Amino acid sequence: MRRLLIALALAVIFFLLPLTVLTLRKGGTEEPGTGTEILFDEKEKLFDEETTVEVLDGDGVITMTLSEYLQGVLSAEMPALYPKEALKAQAIAARTNVMYKKKLREERPGSASHENADVCTNSAHCQAFASEERLREKWGADYEAYSALIREAVEESDGEIVTYKGNPISAIFHAVSSGKTESAEDVWGSAIPYLLAVDSPWDRENAKYETEVSLENEEFKDVFLAKYPEAVFPELPEGWIESVVRSASGGIREMTVAGVTLTGRNFRNLYGLRSANVTFSFEEGEIRMTVRGYGHGVGMSQYGARGMALEGKTAREIVTWYYTGTEVEKLTPPL
Ligand SMILES: [Zn+2]
Repeated sequence: MRRLLIALALAVIFFLLPLTVLTLRKGGTEEPGTGTEILFDEKEKLFDEETTVEVLDGDGVITMTLSEYLQGVLSAEMPALYPKEALKAQAIAARTNVMYKKKLREERPGSASHENADVCTNSAHCQAFASEERLREKWGADYEAYSALIREAVEESDGEIVTYKGNPISAIFHAVSSGKTESAEDVWGSAIPYLLAVDSPWDRENAKYETEVSLENEEFKDVFLAKYPEAVFPELPEGWIESVVRSASGGIREMTVAGVTLTGRNFRNLYGLRSANVTFSFEEGEIRMTVRGYGHGVGMSQYGARGMALEGKTAREIVTWYYTGTEVEKLTPPL
């Protein structure tokens, strides 16, 4: 009897148990079945890889995928070690600019600033772009790691663009604001409904938030006269800057220096200042200019995007914060 029990027990172990395992496994194999389909879905085409961009670089036009282009822009426009959501926000802004410019080129071919290309690699005109060769040089041993971070940010935001009333916007951005961004109207004179001044307190934490430029009185005068020979400088330097009109964010909209009226933007360019948010003090034979932020101050602040991301905000929250009244839409490739 005992032997019979043992035999039965063994039979259970040897025959029935494996059967159970087999059944379980079989149940399990159904999952991978559906899993394969999910995998197939995930492998659906990416918008950025199915879209091509014509990029003007110097005299030549290079055609590349949107994905390649965006990785080159991101690498040139934002430090690779910025938090993921900030990088994604930058990818969304850069992608939006491409779609905005493509649309403009299609609708009004003659009015496009470069007729044979969608974008150019001049950061002052379109967006900066770094080639793989340049990045290998710049990043050295970190090339693989950094380019993986950039690629992830582009892929994870695939097809996402910022729209205002259903149309891609001109997603202007800058490095560091004065603590509040500038409206397009205050900087360039024409109002754009989604480019308004918004708070960006994170920028005050930037190491170069405030910079100072001191010039000897004579030097200040010489630089100004070289560009505006009609200027007449009163004897006392305190009287040189006659009036300053500022935006609500503190940037100079317009000013009169030695009888010449110019925009804050032109003044900034003349003295090579980091922004047009300048205050003046006069002491011991020199003019001291205190400058806040870096860049024109319009649209998304890149350092602010970093700050928001560190506070746990998503890329979508970041772009819709800086571009007033906008939405994020996801474009998908044509079937
Ligand atoms: Zn351009």
